Amino acid sequence: MKNLSLLLLIYAAVSIALPVHPEKDNKEEDIKLLQDYLNKFYEVEPDPNQLGWKRNAESTAEKLRKMQDFFGLKVTGKPDPETLQMIKKPRCGVPDVGLYGVTLPGWKKNKLTYRIVNYTPDMRKEDVDKAIQKALEVWSTVTPLIFTRIHEGIADIMIAFGTKAHGHCPRYFDGPLGVLAHAFPPGSGFGGDVHFDEDEDWTTGLAGFNLFLVAAHEVGHALGLSHSSDQRALMFPNYAYVNPSEFPLSPDDISGIQSIYGSPPNTPDKRPASPTSPKTCGSQMSFDAITTLRREVMFLKGRHLWRVYPDNSEVELESISTFWPSLPSGIQAAYENIKDQILFFKGSNFWVISGYQVLPGYPKNINTLGFPKGVKKIDAAVCNKNTGKTDFFIGDKYWRYDENSKSIEKGYPRRTVDDFPGISQKVDAVFQYKGLFYFFHGSKQQEFDPNAKKVIREIKSNSWFKC
Ligand SMILES: [Zn+2]
Ligand SMILES: [Zn+2]
Repeated sequence: MKNLSLLLLIYAAVSIALPVHPEKDNKEEDIKLLQDYLNKFYEVEPDPNQLGWKRNAESTAEKLRKMQDFFGLKVTGKPDPETLQMIKKPRCGVPDVGLYGVTLPGWKKNKLTYRIVNYTPDMRKEDVDKAIQKALEVWSTVTPLIFTRIHEGIADIMIAFGTKAHGHCPRYFDGPLGVLAHAFPPGSGFGGDVHFDEDEDWTTGLAGFNLFLVAAHEVGHALGLSHSSDQRALMFPNYAYVNPSEFPLSPDDISGIQSIYGSPPNTPDKRPASPTSPKTCGSQMSFDAITTLRREVMFLKGRHLWRVYPDNSEVELESISTFWPSLPSGIQAAYENIKDQILFFKGSNFWVISGYQVLPGYPKNINTLGFPKGVKKIDAAVCNKNTGKTDFFIGDKYWRYDENSKSIEKGYPRRTVDDFPGISQKVDAVFQYKGLFYFFHGSKQQEFDPNAKKVIREIKSNSWFKC
């Protein structure tokens, strides 16, 4: 009987869903979905003047561009198929912009309490306990944080399952799929609390949603982390199943959490070797920034730096802070100029390095290079040694800077793809080697001939390492 009524239900749903003009209605549905998605995850911006939230009056297209940029999609400002596919993926309910868009100050203490307020009927109680405990251990392994469970009263991290409007929570859940869970940044009240959508199917394994993996992500928020656009990071907003026996943190997650709480007490500056040493030979390897330095090429990622000597194929792994203690991790762009100096960029700051010295007076704001106030970060940069011109890539555009006159040339920004045919996506990193340019996006790189103005070949991003 149950099966029959289910069948009838499906039949009824299908008949209602079958529209007269199927394509048109699907499109309207998609536009509504997209609008909801942008309102939910791209609505608020941190207001630098007042430490608060500012509703932003950006147009849908602007928010959409921001979203496409975040996910490394082609930045079109239009609801193309790739974008529509992305917004249908199950994900975390915490926005990708807003106060969450920056790393928040963490808890002011290392000893935190947690309480499991209620349970999901999907799993055995002891499996829920185990999943939560393991999720907390992921973070306590790489920090000085200590978590203690309490069974009554108010804990720093209150963990609960709920559906739709739940308790007094200011956020709603949306039924099956879509948003899976959400969490609040450190603080009192809801601060640090983690909520799971009970309309999802919670599991210990591969089917449904793995509670341990989602909990580990949400605890990251409860400790002060925002979303990462690094697809390999646990703090990437979309759900991805990884074998729970593997350590789920990426170098990006570790450098994020350690920038708030530091390393575990017994390992000053020395991270546990296995989970933290990034594996350059992984098929998904991507880079934050790359620059040449005379005959070597430096690849930067999180807090690490690889020095590659292509001529004798030697590779050395270092941490950025060993070389330049005053530089932050997570450098976003770097290039070597015509005076043997390297410039490093992060957010709106840049540093100039000569030899192995950071020049005094840095960081300076990128506006001092001539960028207008609206430019808040550089994605990638490369100086063409033959012309003395440096190209700065931001989203799908680029700006040209004259190293001799120290000014940005007129007529910029221009669309990257118009002058670099074939380079249509956001550039993660770029460098020039033996006359050719190498453009990096995610785990791929494109070898570009500036004279022929075309992409010669596409190769894996880690082709410079002996893999
Ligand atoms: Zn999240
Ligand atoms: Zn909630």
